Amino acid sequence: MSKLWNIAIVGATGAVGSQMIDCLEERDFPVGKIKYLASSRSAGEILEFKGKPVLVEELTHDSFAGIDIALFSAGGDRSRDFCPSAARAGAVCIDNSSAWRMDPDVPLVVPEVNPHAIARYTKKGIIANPNCSTIQLVVALKPLHDYATIKRVVVSTYQAVSGTGKKAIAELDKQVKDLLQGKPPECKVYPHQIAFNCLPQIGSFGDNGYTGEEMKMVNETRKIMEAEIRVTASTVRVPVFYGHSESVNVETERKITVEKARELLTGAPGVEVVDDPANGVYPMAVDAAGQDLILVGRIREDESIENGLNLWVVADNIRKGAATNAVQIAEILIGKYLQ
Ligand code: NAP
Repeated sequence: MSKLWNIAIVGATGAVGSQMIDCLEERDFPVGKIKYLASSRSAGEILEFKGKPVLVEELTHDSFAGIDIALFSAGGDRSRDFCPSAARAGAVCIDNSSAWRMDPDVPLVVPEVNPHAIARYTKKGIIANPNCSTIQLVVALKPLHDYATIKRVVVSTYQAVSGTGKKAIAELDKQVKDLLQGKPPECKVYPHQIAFNCLPQIGSFGDNGYTGEEMKMVNETRKIMEAEIRVTASTVRVPVFYGHSESVNVETERKITVEKARELLTGAPGVEVVDDPANGVYPMAVDAAGQDLILVGRIREDESIENGLNLWVVADNIRKGAATNAVQIAEILIGKYLQ
């Protein structure tokens, strides 16, 4: 029988953590012992793994004895505090927060783009999972970059509320119901009403006027693609529950025709081309939700520059944008690096 691995899920009660449980089950990951960790608020709750009850325990620095892989999705502060303890106890951490992503000693990995980077996990015992909007962007960019060398990317996002976690999902749900009943919306998670609205702010504003989310897309794209691509981003929260959409403009060194772009993307790992505009077929958040592929469509030449393309890129932010990507990294880790 092949080896089984002991897994801890830190943030098991959250939007990403619950999806991680589902992904491990769906992909039949060889799990030995499973440990669910969360805050004291949920300690004592019972969740399931493959139909068997699992107790949620409070996260402490002693939570990781005997754990091989710790999947973190409990916010940056917990990752900063607890990944080093988990690594000292011998676990490899795969972290969904932004805490370690730009650390030069921590690989930032999207398996379809830079799986080789996983080898550097030994430096700190931590592998970072990129931001959800960056993951879907780089999976679509990779085949185009390999063929024609991307010089510049202009991306505008339309991001679902599930990207902010379970409280944001509940807030949109409640605001929609309240507004339809003529009641004023209660705004706790977002600074303004999100129902029937678009918020051009994700994260806080930096001195340069860009938000944290926008700068993540700039910096993480370069680190993952291992290229000095110029990237500029505008990130917008929209009243969608699941699935981030992105308008992506790409400028390349050499020309890519629409036909060539379709051909490159059709064969690319993790991508599905959904592009038949004459019949009203293009990627949509409702179709992307609940599956793992990056849907690419509306492929057309940018007629305002010599070598440019426009794309519409949509993916499930909780699955490929977070949980699935982390579990894929774990699969490579046990297949190639851990004994
Ligand atoms: P969420 O739904 O709010 O869940 C947060 C999880 O963290 C819950 O399990 C919560 O446990 C746990 N937690 C909070 N404070 C804790 C503490 N002091 N000690 C231990 N556990 C604690 O958030 P989420 O959307 O799953 O996001 C989690 C992380 O993943 C964040 O770092 C986020 O940036 C990242 N991420 C999210 C997405 C996305 O699309 N949602 C994508 C990529 C990355 P309780 O239930 O006990 O509060």
